[in-house]
Amino acid sequence: MTIACFAGLVIDPDKLLLIISSFSFAIAALLALRKFILPTKLKVGLIYGHLVFLFFPFVLLTTDVTCGVACMPCANNVPSLVALALPVTVAISTLAGLFVIPAFYTLSSRRELRNRPVINFVKEYSRKMGIQMPKLYLIDKAKPLAFSFRSLKSAIFISIGMFEVLNRKEIEAVILHELAHIKQRSSMLNFSASLMKIFSPLSLVAKFHDSGKEEAEADSFASRMQKKAQKRR
Ligand SMILES: [Zn+2]
Repeated sequence: MTIACFAGLVIDPDKLLLIISSFSFAIAALLALRKFILPTKLKVGLIYGHLVFLFFPFVLLTTDVTCGVACMPCANNVPSLVALALPVTVAISTLAGLFVIPAFYTLSSRRELRNRPVINFVKEYSRKMGIQMPKLYLIDKAKPLAFSFRSLKSAIFISIGMFEVLNRKEIEAVILHELAHIKQRSSMLNFSASLMKIFSPLSLVAKFHDSGKEEAEADSFASRMQKKAQKRR
């Protein structure tokens, strides 16, 4: 009587409603991303939300079929089905987010930074700090703005506006600050037990870190490096 276990599959109006609303949320998040100019933090939240709602129906259906095959009671019980499918969805979305979110940013209005002195500066200090040289991007924005990604591949983003208001030395301080964040991340990856922090999609953009400690450390690193460089000159 295995077939009986599948009785509630998809046809169940509760499951169908759940699947339809999940897809609707995924689409709504995507539309909001395309239509509005949003703060970065909200954008990352929407991308992550989109992924969660997009994957959820698939995980739900897989769980449903698995429950049906195993003849488990969850096949006809929406709450227990959701309880099984939700953690899996969150895990899959989080992993996907680590790739998708940086891709979203690197695809948006930016171009590779071609400023030779800046590139050389980053190269030199990445080597000194023992980190892989991050990619450098110029964002088409008049607002002075700098941030970095600390995903599997690191990147530093600097706006055109930043180059207009800061002199060379100040730009270098900004870069050192971002490099310090990237270094913080790689050391976290190596030693830290704070997995939540690494795998939270929101932690991808360095400036999201609420911890004033990381900001202060990055700043003091930047000024220490600059003082050192000055002495050598
Ligand atoms: Zn910072």
